[in-house]
Amino acid sequence: MDPLDPEAWRAALRDTTRGVFLESIGNPVLTVPDLRAIADIAHAADVPVVVDNTMATPVLLRPFEHGADIVVHSATKYLGGHGTAIAGVIVDGGTFDFTARPARWPRLTAPYPRFDGIVFTDAFDGREGRTPFLVLARAKSVHDLGPTLSPTSASQILLGIETLDLRIRRQTETALDLARFLAQQFEVARVHHPGLPGHPEHEQVSRLLPEGLGSVFSFDLAGGPGVVETFIDALELFALVANIGDVRSLVVHPATTTHSRLDAVGRADAGIDLTTIRLSVGVEDPDDLRADLAQALQAVARATAAPADAPVLR
Ligand SMILES: *Cc1c(COP(=O)(O)O)cnc(C)c1O
Repeated sequence: MDPLDPEAWRAALRDTTRGVFLESIGNPVLTVPDLRAIADIAHAADVPVVVDNTMATPVLLRPFEHGADIVVHSATKYLGGHGTAIAGVIVDGGTFDFTARPARWPRLTAPYPRFDGIVFTDAFDGREGRTPFLVLARAKSVHDLGPTLSPTSASQILLGIETLDLRIRRQTETALDLARFLAQQFEVARVHHPGLPGHPEHEQVSRLLPEGLGSVFSFDLAGGPGVVETFIDALELFALVANIGDVRSLVVHPATTTHSRLDAVGRADAGIDLTTIRLSVGVEDPDDLRADLAQALQAVARATAAPADAPVLR
């Protein structure tokens, strides 16, 4: 459903719904749903709210303060920060009462034969981080299914988290600066960054995320799909990589990579176009990054300019 329309979430709830799942900041055009309104709708139906907070990170948004019950992160992105390890994080706020509608959650509320017949909601009270849901996630998903983080990867993620706050603040500021720059360029049709005052969701987003929206944002090139390759090939500092949240600046063309499985309707629903370019802004010198974008846009301008000796049509 349209993540920006709380009534669409209400209409989508079924008796079989076991969770509401949303991204606090949607990728790649920075869709920011009204987390509190959606949480209220889900809780009225006794459904927990799971928020993917990868794009915001805990530096910019703590979803538990806005009604989330469980928060997940791809630690591969900003938490690690260096694109060196694949990892994920589940944080359980311990706020959702699985015993209110026990028939919905038999693995948590009924004796579980695989684990000596214990009832997770009776056996674990959340002390020392042992909530029923997290114990089940560790026992079932990690132990039985095996997606266990290697010690090396764990240490890389921990090392990254030590500089998270510094990186996010610098990258967020540079990204907004570059978004402002791009919005003034003739070769750019549109910039998808709600931090810009002209953006339709600017006011509402600024209330939820007063410290900014992170360093990933997108924009549409004005020259049509044919100039996408010229632009990306001309970039020297932005690497063509599908990752985000890295200390290095990255660029990707969503329509042919991350969103390539969508048809035209799906792309339109996701707010992206064949000319949409996604940036993940790193920690490099902001002037260097702006200059790199400027020279790549000049390459686009040169490629699309009519040759000087072209016949003048009357
Ligand atoms: C990358 C990403 C994921 C998937 O995480 P991996 O670490 O690549 O498995 C999930 N959610 C968001 C918002 C992401 O950017």
